[in-house]
This record gives sequence, structure tokens and C-alpha cells, in this order.
Amino acid sequence: MKSSLELLERARKVMPGGVNSPVRAFRSVGGTPPFILRANGAHITDVEEKTYIDFVLTWGPAILGHAHPEVIEACIKTMRDGTSFGAPTEREIELAELTIDRVPGLEMLRLVNSGTEACMSAVRVARGVTGRDKIIKFDGCYHGHADSFLIRAGSGALTFGNPNSPGVTAGCAKDTLIAQFNQIETVEALFEANPNEIAAVIIEPICGNTGCIPPRDGFLTQLRETCTKHGAALILDEVMTGFRVARGGAAEIYGVIPDLYCFGKVLGGGFPLAAYGGKEEYMRQVAPDGPIYQAGTLSGNPVAVSAGLKTLELLTPEVYQALERTGQRLEDGVAAIIEKNDYPLSQHRVGSMFGLFFTPQDVKTHADVTRCDIPKFNTFFHHCLDLGVYLAPSQYEAGFLSIAHTDALIDETVSSIEEALKRTFN
Ligand code: PLP
Repeated sequence: MKSSLELLERARKVMPGGVNSPVRAFRSVGGTPPFILRANGAHITDVEEKTYIDFVLTWGPAILGHAHPEVIEACIKTMRDGTSFGAPTEREIELAELTIDRVPGLEMLRLVNSGTEACMSAVRVARGVTGRDKIIKFDGCYHGHADSFLIRAGSGALTFGNPNSPGVTAGCAKDTLIAQFNQIETVEALFEANPNEIAAVIIEPICGNTGCIPPRDGFLTQLRETCTKHGAALILDEVMTGFRVARGGAAEIYGVIPDLYCFGKVLGGGFPLAAYGGKEEYMRQVAPDGPIYQAGTLSGNPVAVSAGLKTLELLTPEVYQALERTGQRLEDGVAAIIEKNDYPLSQHRVGSMFGLFFTPQDVKTHADVTRCDIPKFNTFFHHCLDLGVYLAPSQYEAGFLSIAHTDALIDETVSSIEEALKRTFN
């Protein structure tokens, strides 16, 4: 049997950090990431044959649990007829129709291969349509690794962004302005300081890349109104929330219709598939109907589309009711432990997406998350891992549930969390 450590050492010789996406390397929590052998339902098993209850779920997509038999079957059937054509298929129309049917105000879309591509393309469309260059993003929101998004706030919240990765040019960074999540006045100030220059505001409607921070009451509606008043596009990045927090995503819950949407994760049913779309007046400007160019060799890949189609088909309204019950059970279980022991913790949950914060304060912004006791989270994380609970290796990441997380598995998790917290705080 190979060990994860042995594989990590081998991997490090040929890949940066031994991984193909940085957070997988466990740098923020320390230790060796389990190398995965297989996953099924709510469980994931590493090369040392240790099995965990999985709350990462491949960073969100596996809402039906891993290796759902009907999704696998659909993919195998498709693959027998060829794995890629680079030509249109009927399945792509079906997936577009099903998505449009489900998401409020979505009129047209284009399939791409990753959430990064979806967000990058949506911003290009907003810029192309408005003829403006600048965008506003929120501190702590992640929209993939395209240059325009790898920007953090300067010393003041209202300054031009500075790149937080070498390789992002100053020219690119100056067009990304940073506002604070849940603070509409920071957005209004940026519009006032940059009249007729802002093409779009892009936002995660529930900030999942800082744990799980829901929008406060009315925040998204105010954002919609501000964008409309200033002639800027509102882009809802529902890569994480789409088809997860509700059948029609966060837009359905909060009653806000953006000009453009970004989707990924659940939409691809575990395959590299994502989409951007929105109002027809925007999407008709995309090539070949319009002049804004965007393309992809593997876009609309038949296997990925089949996985996405089957996944959406299985996501009935009843599934979301079941996920809400599961989420409530986990939330109640953890809340009881916090209360009983007076632990300095707080939590947020929207449907099957949750965050446990190592601070007693109510977390509303990215700055609030930075005040969490990160070393304590890291200790807790490793105790959970030892106890067979696989959480995301960072205080800044959300947790996810699937329909394969039964009541018995939730109760087992709550007991493990209780034990992990005891070991962390005592
Ligand atoms: N947008 C959000 C909200 C995300 O959470 C992510 C990835 O986690 C992305 C965009 C980028 O998606 P991908 O990793 O598929 O490029």
C-alpha cells in the first residue's frame, strides 16, 4: 500500500506543490493531504484505505453524492458514441433549455469548461456591451484565477486594486476596484469616484470563498438598483451557489435578477463544465452573433453535458427539501455543542452550504473572517480528519452537503465534531 506522504514527495518533484490546484496541498493547515483512491456517495477513501465522510464534495459539484449510478451510466452511454466532436449536439440545447427554465431571468447562455472561464467571459461581455473598462469586485470573493480577479484592496477599501499575484500587470489591476461585501456604501462611493467608467459589478451572492457569508437583508436588491442607476451590468457569480442553495440558485432565494450569470460546479455533475449567460441583449453580442469573441475546443463536451443533464434532471424540488432538512440537522447539532460548551464559534448556513467560524462574532464581511482564530481552526481541522470527517482545509472555505449524507452520517459527524472541538479547546 502506498502512503499519501510517499505520493506527495513524488508529486512535488513534477508538479508545483505536488498538486494541480494550490489549496489541495494543505499549506494553510499543514500536514500531508490524503491522496484519494476513490469516492462513493458521501464517502471518500484515500490510498491508505482510510475512509472519511466528505464535506468538500469536490469543492461543491457532488450534490448527488460521489459516483451517482445514474450519472455514471449516462456518461458511459454517451462515451460509447465518442467523447468529443467539436461540433454542435442536441444535448447542448437540452442542457441550455433546462438551465434557462430553472434560473430566473436567464435568457441565453454559452457553455465553457471552468468557472474561471465563465467569469472571465461574463466580464468581457459586460465590457464589450457597455464600452467601459473598470469592474467592481468584493474583497474576499473569488471568481477564478483570470488576471482581473486576482486583485485585493489597497490600504483603503476604496483605492485601486493591487495585484496579489506576480504576473498580473498593473494595467490590468487598475481596472479592478474593490468594495466590501454587505456594505453598499462602498459600492456607491466607487461609482461616484469613477463616473461612467464601471462596466460591471461581479459578486458571489453568498460569499462562499470566505466560509459562507449570506447577503444581509436587501443588500443584493440595493446592488441591483445601484448598477441599474449607473448603467453597469450586475454579474451574479453562481458558480458555487447555482443549483445548490436552491433549484434556481441564490437569485431565486433573494429575488434578484442580474444582467449576467456565471455557473459551474453542480452544473457539470463532476466534469469540467461551466456556463455564462443572461439577458439576450448581452448574449446576442457574443460571437458569432456579435463581435465579442469567446470560444473553446472542448466547450459543450458530450460527456460533461450528459453528466450535467442527468444531474439537473435528478435535482427535483424534493431533493432541495431533503437537503434543507439535512442542513438543519447539522446546524442544530453543532449549535447545541457550541451553546453547551460556550465555545467562541459562530456559523452560517444556506441550504446545503455552510461555514463554521472560529469567532463568536456574527461574520458579515471578509474582514470579519480574517479576525477568526485561524490556528485553532487548523487544529480542529486535523482532529476532524483524524476522526474521519473531511472538511475543506481552510477557514476561508465553505462546506457542502449531498443527498447521500443520511441522518445517521450527520449524527456521526456531529459526534466527531464534538470530540474534535473538545480536543481543540482543552
Ligand atoms: N467562482 C466561484 C464563486 C468559485 O467558487 C470558483 C471556484 O471555486 C470559481 C468561480 C472558479 O471556478 P473554477 O475553479 O471551475 O475555475
